[in-house]
Amino acid sequence: MMGTPMQLAPDNQNNPLESLERAATAGAPTLAIAYLSASGRVDYAAPDPLDDPIGRDPSNRGRQDQQNYLLRMAINQIPQAVAMFSADEKLIVCNDAFRGLYALPARLCAESASFWEILGQGAAFGLVPVDSRGTDFARIREIVRAGRAWRGMMRISDGRIISTIHEPLDNGGWISMQEDVTEQHLREKAEMAQLREAEAESMRFSAAINNMNQGLAMFDAARKLVVCNQSFARLYNLPPQMMRPGTPFADIFRHRYHLGLTGRDEDFQTGYANIGELIDNRRGANGPVTMRTGQVFMVSHQPLSDGGWLSTHEDVTEQHRNAEIIRYLARHDSLTGLANRSTFLEAMTDAEARIDDGDILAVICLDLDRFKQVNDSLGHAIGDAVLTGVSGRLLSVLEGHGLVARLGGDEFAALVGPLESPAEAMEIVEMLMERLAEPLTVGNSTVSCAASCGIALAPQHGHDAHTLMRCADLALYRAKADTPGSFSLFETRMDVAQRRRQAIEAGLRTAIGNTSVSLMYQPIIALESGRVCCCEALMRWRSPELGMVSPAEFISVAEETGQIRDLGVWALETACMEATGWPCHVRVAVNVSPVQFHGHGLVGEVRRALALSGLEPSRLELEITESLFLADDAHNLEVLHQLRELGVRVALDDFGTGYSSLAYMLRFPFDKVKIDRAIVSTIAEKPETVAMVTAIVELCRGFNMPTVAEGIETEEQLEQVRAHGCDEVQGYIFSPPLPQSAIGELLRGKQMPAMTAVLQRHRA
Ligand code: C2E
Ligand code: MG
Ligand code: MG
Repeated sequence: MMGTPMQLAPDNQNNPLESLERAATAGAPTLAIAYLSASGRVDYAAPDPLDDPIGRDPSNRGRQDQQNYLLRMAINQIPQAVAMFSADEKLIVCNDAFRGLYALPARLCAESASFWEILGQGAAFGLVPVDSRGTDFARIREIVRAGRAWRGMMRISDGRIISTIHEPLDNGGWISMQEDVTEQHLREKAEMAQLREAEAESMRFSAAINNMNQGLAMFDAARKLVVCNQSFARLYNLPPQMMRPGTPFADIFRHRYHLGLTGRDEDFQTGYANIGELIDNRRGANGPVTMRTGQVFMVSHQPLSDGGWLSTHEDVTEQHRNAEIIRYLARHDSLTGLANRSTFLEAMTDAEARIDDGDILAVICLDLDRFKQVNDSLGHAIGDAVLTGVSGRLLSVLEGHGLVARLGGDEFAALVGPLESPAEAMEIVEMLMERLAEPLTVGNSTVSCAASCGIALAPQHGHDAHTLMRCADLALYRAKADTPGSFSLFETRMDVAQRRRQAIEAGLRTAIGNTSVSLMYQPIIALESGRVCCCEALMRWRSPELGMVSPAEFISVAEETGQIRDLGVWALETACMEATGWPCHVRVAVNVSPVQFHGHGLVGEVRRALALSGLEPSRLELEITESLFLADDAHNLEVLHQLRELGVRVALDDFGTGYSSLAYMLRFPFDKVKIDRAIVSTIAEKPETVAMVTAIVELCRGFNMPTVAEGIETEEQLEQVRAHGCDEVQGYIFSPPLPQSAIGELLRGKQMPAMTAVLQRHRA
């Protein structure tokens, strides 16, 4: 394998040092130049003390050898691996770094070692070209042989990357220079990856900003555009040249201004100055801006640390409009367009400050008188039309005086003022009542929309919203209770009455089921026989706090609160139970409130009371009032028929008061009609009452309904009702309501002398 050593001479055309120099200037890693003299000759160096296989000892060598030795010395100083091969592919010389790189054995470092064998050793290390795909060593050799340099990277299986140059020599050999560039390679690779990541990032960024619905623009401290997205351009109709980085903000703002796409309340100067102020003070801002075009853009301006800013822009016109509608709906009544309850209460609260400043204000609460009837009989469409009509009338009188609201259902309210004096409030209300009293034409119907009205004045009756509302409500309640269709100004005594109602309600909550509630019985006498035919059960309540409370008072509270349902069930069961101890011909009459007709419970409750007591159904009489027909007529009639099917009797109570409509009386075949005490009490004095009683009795007789005269207190009254044909009588003249024990005695024949005497006198 060993060939002839290559002769090296400084002036030789094939001078390896020159080749080395050429390779170095061609970019190969080399330090060998440092060992060349300025004349290009190789300087003498100290003898190599190493005794190695390639013979470094200069002592036995000639000048040629010396030069070779110097060359070896020189290339040994090079940190890169250097090897020189002859045209016949034999090693001429290599340095220690080359030997080390491939861990070459001495044999393969000696002169004339075969290039292919050396390569074989490299291959054992896994040496492969990295970056010249399809390149193998034979091809590399071809290239070099053809007089061209080959540069490339080699990878060793341990992962190291070796930069390699094979530089051809003029004599057909070549010099190979190699350097471990793993670190540099890894660094470059990392840098490349970073660069690629940055590029990808930038692509992602531009994809992201251009796919945003929001317009985005970034400006630098010099107020020049850095970047903006398509949405921004679309939103402000920017021409392409204005999207270019560097476009002055002022140009873009001017462009927007000409399109009407700057704040509605600002001219060019002000608008530009306002943004300038944000920029200079590094302040952020965020919020909807109504453009001069009427569109609403949500604009956010965020300062950036470099003195520039980032802004986002979004057309929110639609959402804004929807939000406005929602806000409007939340504050107004959808049917009438008036303010709703919460808006009204807010306005009342806002008015507190004005009241404290001395304003006189009036709070007016209104409630339509027979709206439920209108709704039930004429339908909801007409009902709605009435409410709209009323709201129009309220506005026609009150607009300009204050705020009108619909609180719900048929309840309206107004906050009126400031007023000159309380009297002015009354004038306004009178006008209002007059206007509302006029019949309202809805389609083909003429409907009454009369209302009751309560008024509270500030500061006279209170300063705060809550108190004033309560006072106006109380006054309304009073007006409704006294004379529907009237108005009433709040008075302190109403408050007292209200507090009493609250006390009754609270007391009743614990009253049911304890002994504070009881039943008294008042006898009803059949005039023909002179005997007690029925006893009416009348509820009594002795409140531990309030003392004896009249049913006229507590029943209405119980009806309002719904407590009457439990009280009613208790009265039914107790009355039926107690009546079982009476003679069989004596019936028991129990008053039933219209509230007990709500739902479907009543029939079952009556059935249960009969079953529990074992009372004959025909001995139970239920007294109802005609107010039952004011509400849910069909349902109530249905319940009445079901009750009748149970076998119980039904009496129409308090006839002659209220609406006393013949129509009501004829709706149901009552077993009895009770003429109200209010009529009976005047029968002895008023001829018209006599006529009325006669008419009622005649009418009832025509329908085969017996009549009862309630509240007979005097013999004259008794005489009159008997003379005019009433069948039964009830009143203090015979007996007040009595406790169960006393009525028992009375019924067992121990009748009270007064009663017997009266009857005897009148039977005579
Ligand atoms: P009402 O059903 O018309 O009962 C007759 C009322 O007239 C009773 O009043 C009775 O005590 C009174 N009265 C009877 N004779 C005379 C008389 O000669 N002169 C005078 N001044 N009054 C007389 P009371 O017990 O105060 O009951 C008032 C109303 O309370 C009853 O009127 C009835 O509507 C209601 N009520 C009483 N108990 C009940 C009940 O258990 N359930 C229901 N739902 N209502 C009841
Ligand atoms: Mg009654
Ligand atoms: Mg009555």
